[in-house]
Amino acid sequence: MIEIKKLTKQADNKLILRGVDLSIKKGETVAILGPNGAGKSTLLKVLATLIKPTSGLIKINGLDLKKDHIEIKKLLGYLPHSSLLYDHYSPLENLVFFGNIYGVNNVEQKASKLVKEVGLSFFLNEPVKNFSRGMIQRIAIARAIIHDPEILLLDEPHTGLDQGAISILNNVILSMKEKGATTLMVTHDFKQAAEICDRIIIVKNGRIVDDFKIENRNLGFVSEKYGLQMEGVS
Ligand code: ADP
Ligand code: MG
Ligand code: MG
Repeated sequence: MIEIKKLTKQADNKLILRGVDLSIKKGETVAILGPNGAGKSTLLKVLATLIKPTSGLIKINGLDLKKDHIEIKKLLGYLPHSSLLYDHYSPLENLVFFGNIYGVNNVEQKASKLVKEVGLSFFLNEPVKNFSRGMIQRIAIARAIIHDPEILLLDEPHTGLDQGAISILNNVILSMKEKGATTLMVTHDFKQAAEICDRIIIVKNGRIVDDFKIENRNLGFVSEKYGLQMEGVS
């Protein structure tokens, strides 16, 4: 359902993506790992239709990202590295605002259900300006799924979260998977990747250098080979 061929991205005379080939099946949960500056976020932003590729082909559900990006955007839920919310709006108002952009039916009902799901019922009508990173991230997660996307694109979603927010995030990803959604998650957190993903892709220097199913690989060996932190991975 996601087909990427010979994808490159150049910015400021620098090749950030140097020929990425990748295919992802419907329902897969894929982690993208690799060193800082490897091009992971750039790959996600291209898929999220936020930046244009320099060359190559991307097809999502048979649609061509070059021509059909408006259709494709409706299929996507994107969680950026750090999310901007409307400071003076409550979690509910933020979600209703973004739900309306996507034309979500019964948006208020859906939004308040999601606020509960991410454990913020108590703060339903508080302005978000004083919320912690964990609370903001919970709203951002709810926002990313308010239109029932088929594809979730998550950029370092676990970074800076407390244990409570981590379990909520993981539950959301797993319940989206049960509904058939596909997830691509950039992360530095090998433990979370091993826990919730089926497959790991390693990106280095703008290329995919490894790609494997978690069940088929000795994770200790992988973490050693790529210098990944794996505290608590069993
Ligand atoms: P990662 O997410 O793997 O840490 P990024 O995709 O954010 O890496 O960035 C990859 C490289 O491309 C970095 O060296 C970064 O500085 C550079 N880069 C990213 N975006 C731009 C841009 N718009 N213009 C120039 N260089 C960029
Ligand atoms: Mg980075
Ligand atoms: Mg990044």
